[in-house]
Amino acid sequence: MDFRKSTDTLNKIPIQDIAAWLGVTLPKKGSARCPFPDHKDQNPSFEIKESGTSWICYGCNHKGGSIDFVKEYNKIDFLGAKQWLESRIHNGRNAAPITKRTTKKQSEESVKLDMHDSGDYSDVYTFLLMLCPLLESGKNYLLSRAITLETMEAFKIAQMPPQSIIPKLLSKFGFERIHAAGILTKKSTIDTPRIIFSWNSVIFPFFEDGKVVYLQARALNGEEQYGKWRNLNSQPKRIYNVDAITQNSKRPFAICEGVIDTLSAIELGYDAVGMMGWSAKFVPDQIRALRKKEVEILLDWDEKGEKGAQQLREDLNQYGVVSIRKRLPSTTATDLNEYLKEKRGLV
Ligand SMILES: [Zn+2]
Repeated sequence: MDFRKSTDTLNKIPIQDIAAWLGVTLPKKGSARCPFPDHKDQNPSFEIKESGTSWICYGCNHKGGSIDFVKEYNKIDFLGAKQWLESRIHNGRNAAPITKRTTKKQSEESVKLDMHDSGDYSDVYTFLLMLCPLLESGKNYLLSRAITLETMEAFKIAQMPPQSIIPKLLSKFGFERIHAAGILTKKSTIDTPRIIFSWNSVIFPFFEDGKVVYLQARALNGEEQYGKWRNLNSQPKRIYNVDAITQNSKRPFAICEGVIDTLSAIELGYDAVGMMGWSAKFVPDQIRALRKKEVEILLDWDEKGEKGAQQLREDLNQYGVVSIRKRLPSTTATDLNEYLKEKRGLV
């Protein structure tokens, strides 16, 4: 295939498909918040054109077709973006998102990785959780954050054991699949597979329709210096406890920041979901389901939280969801967990 011809072919792939390969959700047409990592878009400035194959962002002033989308999102050059797309096509459209800044060697590797890739890794995550019961150190950590044993159990919180779980994962699923599931570090190779969560870190499973779709871990025991929170590699972020939206309950509904605040809200008698930054968003059906609920926005009581709360209220409002921004009665707490600890006499 000559250069121009392959460029034209690749530019005919719908932007929405490409976004899905990259783990980004975009509407077929119309506006959305800009998905590019450099542009922290607060308003929907990004638009997919009528054709479905070209796009423009009025915020960061980038525009183009399918190849340009990959180029902007992965921060690679045009040729690299073409190569990335070609490898997707040759390996089927359900290919998993691969790591950013693809080099030639990596994209050859990813070709192999895509072979067994179904895109649903709940079996891998469920098996991992089974190998990782919550230990005494994890329980003590959560108790120090005023999370009760009952909540730990209900949310199936787990913990990385001292012995390696990699051999068991490898023999059950093989390297390609556990790598694609995002539980290995980017530098892992088949000879030196390394798990992404540090030993002893507390693991929080994210459920959707009762299935584990994501894992996030909090480092303990001095490992925090490398970052307190660890996410899966190359997997799209999710909303924590999102099934709470469809629960039929009379409890007030809280939208929180992160896992610990969500669990804190639950301790305080709320149904709650947790946002992880702004990269995972509610889908319209979920927002509509919130119409029946008494929604309180309990993001952190700081500047960032206030900004987020304002934006969230506007977004919810567009769908007819009435919400209130709430500050719980404390003079010192800057987030929900501090409030809970104060209330339980832990500070
Ligand atoms: Zn933009």
